[in-house]
Amino acid sequence: MELTFLGTGAGVPAKERNVSAIALDLAQERGTTWLFDCGEATQHQILHTAIKPRKIEKIFITHLHGDHIFGLPGLLGSRSFQDGTSLLTIYGPRGIKEYVEVSLRISATHLKYPIEIVEIEDGVIFEDRQFIVSAGKLEHGITSYGYRIVEKDLKGALEVDKLKKLGISPGPIYQKIKAGGEIVLEDGTKINGTDFVGPDKSGRKLAILGDTRFNQKAIELAGEVDLLVHEATFGKEDEAIAYDYFHSTTTGAAWVAKEAKVKALVLTHISSRYQGNDIDALLEEAQEVFSNVTIAHDFYKLQMNRK
Ligand SMILES: [Zn+2]
Ligand SMILES: [Zn+2]
Repeated sequence: MELTFLGTGAGVPAKERNVSAIALDLAQERGTTWLFDCGEATQHQILHTAIKPRKIEKIFITHLHGDHIFGLPGLLGSRSFQDGTSLLTIYGPRGIKEYVEVSLRISATHLKYPIEIVEIEDGVIFEDRQFIVSAGKLEHGITSYGYRIVEKDLKGALEVDKLKKLGISPGPIYQKIKAGGEIVLEDGTKINGTDFVGPDKSGRKLAILGDTRFNQKAIELAGEVDLLVHEATFGKEDEAIAYDYFHSTTTGAAWVAKEAKVKALVLTHISSRYQGNDIDALLEEAQEVFSNVTIAHDFYKLQMNRK
């Protein structure tokens, strides 16, 4: 699991920061990539990385402001040219379906792969044997969602050394032992499978939130995650402006992290008014509230290891 920040600016593209998009590399877990938001020129940013559009399996759109979706039709079209054939699922607020369908139809873009567009509401929006993704409505000028991504716990490893000591050699029986339950060996000895399986490895949790002002739902979505990605369009002195424009400040985001008891916080969606040393100042004011915080920059990568 590795995050790559493809765009970390707010509102309009800037030389230093492109508009919003984050890739979650799940190559090891499921051989795919998930994308969160797709601002203009996201596909150009992808060209500077090892991400392959044909491997993108799901795109989660937080909200329909242009800086989060203007790169979507182009990316969908290019995925076709780059031999993308597998199903792509797009999740987003009501209106995302019309936006994608109209863009593709009017530009005569014919995709060579199936797409599924899911207009979401609060609650679980995706679940399989590996992951549960839920969404929650935040507070922004238009409907904006946050996503909570929870990896399910992995079964512990089989303690092979212990089995070998008992003279149980590798074979189909190992599968049975790993499944737990009582097993009768050839010599009549009974063993309990669970005695030979290490503790479960707990799954990783992260929350990636769309644009929002400080609110309770954000804290709920981020509850005890390993990593929270939160917007910080403004510095702490612009609390009132942030509130009026339905955005967050550095300290507001840090408070969410603190109240939600997250392990780490990454700030993104930084206004282009902050340059150079300003970024250090933004970081410091966030650190006053929550110490384990980073301000992302374009192409910033973050590995999420299993504990
Ligand atoms: Zn935005
Ligand atoms: Zn917005």
